[in-house]
Amino acid sequence: MTTPYTITRVGDAYLVSTEHVNWVLVEDGHDLTLIDGGYPGNAEDVERSVREIGHQMRDIRGILLTHAHIDHLGGAAKIAEAYAVDVLTGETEVAHARRDYLQQLGPAKLPMMIWRHGAVGWLLDIMRLGGTDDVAIPGALEYPAAEVDLPGAPVAVPTPGHTDGHTAYHLPGSGVLVSGDALITGHAVSRRHGPQLIVRPFSHDRTETRHSLDAIAEVQASTLFPGHGPAWTGDMAAAAAEAHAGEGFWRP
Ligand SMILES: [Zn+2]
Repeated sequence: MTTPYTITRVGDAYLVSTEHVNWVLVEDGHDLTLIDGGYPGNAEDVERSVREIGHQMRDIRGILLTHAHIDHLGGAAKIAEAYAVDVLTGETEVAHARRDYLQQLGPAKLPMMIWRHGAVGWLLDIMRLGGTDDVAIPGALEYPAAEVDLPGAPVAVPTPGHTDGHTAYHLPGSGVLVSGDALITGHAVSRRHGPQLIVRPFSHDRTETRHSLDAIAEVQASTLFPGHGPAWTGDMAAAAAEAHAGEGFWRP
């Protein structure tokens, strides 16, 4: 199964964008950091994207997760196992990645997305990509506490709300903020474009999610690489403000 993607390069960072989810590659000479890895069914697409930017899988020094939802962790888990690479995430998210608990919309709640957002096509797509698979990363490590130097020297930006331990990563050398699902720019179940919060049922704590926009606003970056939607250029305070302004557009 092959999923089409586009690649956007800014400095040493590459946003790989599919219709349903993104991942990021960060280059430092021969070495790479992979940030998120798509759905389980995207693992081969991640490999293809690594080769397309002129690298091999053995160049990956570590995998960072913004959060442990299946659309970001699934492909990462497969790659970590196949290539014996460490997976790291923010302090609070480690237990989630290990599946000590699960903060994700279960299959029982998914039909709600269909009638509320007209998302039948989305649901069929994500099931095909392994979106309801049960995947854990028992050996997940804490970043940056684990003594692992990652290419691009990502700086963890705690951004709780979407999940309790959601973590964005600032890539200072490239002027990029990898925002995961703390701030996105589009989604199959959203009709909006540009910086926005992900639709309400997907986030664990909506109030915390809004507070985390303040942390994002302070990051000195000029490009946003989100977990869903295209790259966005501008300062992070403007991106956060646009997401704040869009709140109230959609009510439960
Ligand atoms: Zn996501």
